[in-house]
Amino acid sequence: MKSIVLIHFLAFLFLFFQQTGYAQHYLLEAESGKLTSVQKSTTNPGYSGTGYVTGMTSDGSRIELTFSATAGLFSAFLGFATPGGAKGYEVEINGIKSSGMLPETGKTFSKAGMGKVELKTGDNTVVVKKGWGWFDVDYVLFETATVPELLPVPDSLIDGQASSLTRSLHRFLRAHYGKKILSGQQDEDDLDYVKSITGKTPAVGHFDFMDYSPSRIQFGANPTGNTEKMIAWAKRTNGLVSISWHWNAPTDLINLAPDKLWWSGFYTRATTFDIKAVLADPGGSRYQLLLRDMDAIAVQLKKFQTAGIPVLWRPLHEAAGGWFWWGAKGSQPFIELWRLMVSRLRDHHGIHNLIWVYTTGDQSWYPGDEFVDIVSHDIYTDKGSPMSGQWDETFVHFNGKKLVTLSESGTLPVPAKIPAYGTWWSYFSLWSGDFIRKIPISEVKAVYSHPLIMNAEDLPDWKNYSSVELPPSVPSEIRLKNYPNPFNPGTKLVISSPTSQDLKVSISDILGRTIQELELKRFSAGENEVILNGSSWSSGLYFVRVEGGKSTAIQKIILVR
Ligand code: CA
Repeated sequence: MKSIVLIHFLAFLFLFFQQTGYAQHYLLEAESGKLTSVQKSTTNPGYSGTGYVTGMTSDGSRIELTFSATAGLFSAFLGFATPGGAKGYEVEINGIKSSGMLPETGKTFSKAGMGKVELKTGDNTVVVKKGWGWFDVDYVLFETATVPELLPVPDSLIDGQASSLTRSLHRFLRAHYGKKILSGQQDEDDLDYVKSITGKTPAVGHFDFMDYSPSRIQFGANPTGNTEKMIAWAKRTNGLVSISWHWNAPTDLINLAPDKLWWSGFYTRATTFDIKAVLADPGGSRYQLLLRDMDAIAVQLKKFQTAGIPVLWRPLHEAAGGWFWWGAKGSQPFIELWRLMVSRLRDHHGIHNLIWVYTTGDQSWYPGDEFVDIVSHDIYTDKGSPMSGQWDETFVHFNGKKLVTLSESGTLPVPAKIPAYGTWWSYFSLWSGDFIRKIPISEVKAVYSHPLIMNAEDLPDWKNYSSVELPPSVPSEIRLKNYPNPFNPGTKLVISSPTSQDLKVSISDILGRTIQELELKRFSAGENEVILNGSSWSSGLYFVRVEGGKSTAIQKIILVR
């Protein structure tokens, strides 16, 4: 049934306006906090409040903000500027650390999501720490959290000739995205360790081609049999295989003690190999060495292809961090190298059993939709962290486009927090050694026996995964869209509700200030339309939130005069 509800805001105010208070927000000006080794400034315009905080340059730099709240799950935001280029931030909210990236804005103030966080009733504390330093802090904002709907990912891979097994694996991953998280562990010894203490086999085994780097073999590394052991693990367990490659630079290793020895040759610090210069000279000998190394890895990947094993292939990871040589010269050489590798392995060598996993930095490092199948994060943070900052940051760009996964972590995800925070990683992978061995066994067991976690023993026949189980088109939750967008002065909201119910609608501005709230009593099931009239608003970005029952939908709308 379709009905038209025409609503103008003045009529709203008269008939429906209620100060319900269900959408909380707390705006904390940085300049009002307890400041240590930082300075208040008003030099650059455009800040909120009475200024901003600058001079986040020493290890002791910190801004401490204490405020009173009502308990709930909130989205956290940082008002910031990055005059020195993109920087990493670090904050602690009630003692729980989170971190992420701030894009380059120059002297212009902007707002970055920091993920979701639980606030408690009474006093709460936020501490903004130096992180990478050299960024300015305007404010910290909390607003009542909403979890956006996880949209289905297209059934396509960047390899048009991907093998049927590889396509089947991707179909399986897509079908379980947002429903289950596949367990995973780095290194065969630690895969065995997890099995020995939990009785369960991680669904994804994560391995590395490091010692197949030709420049390591030149120094005596002997990888003989490594690939065969990975293949044997996959056949023994029916688990999925993920492989990364700590690629020792093809040449130009510094090889000096203490921290630049040849076996550190994947680190920027241990090589003078200049990827930008090498790529600029395709006729040069170093360019040929790049190809030689990729060809060496192609030999190993072909063994998986012959064995009928698809590979979640994750080369050139953590490039944006700059600590590996493939990321040391900025995003452009990295993207060029990534694309060159796709071309070399897929087109030149005819390897068609790969699902290409890109470990994300900020958006400027993304090689492009035509070159990436899965987007991933490597996250090292405090135990118990929901890791939602990085999730939210990435999800905004890739919802409905690519699967998002946790390709490396130093702590286990917390399954109980996943539905509320919406952090539906396709799979996770805990790093090896102490990272897994120092976690109390009871905690490892709790994760591996959680109903949201899928282990190798729980995997269906993913090699013959046929029909795609996508969410039904009938909404099970409230959905919201609008057109036109941008608009001036009116726009039409199209709201889908699964049942007849009372809905609450709120419109807030970019700082989280609620401009309008209204109730739609006994809104009928199906698709309904509401006209918004923004003639009394100023130009800018607004958020429309529709809540009913346990479901919430949110939409960004932009008024442009
Ligand atoms: Ca401020």
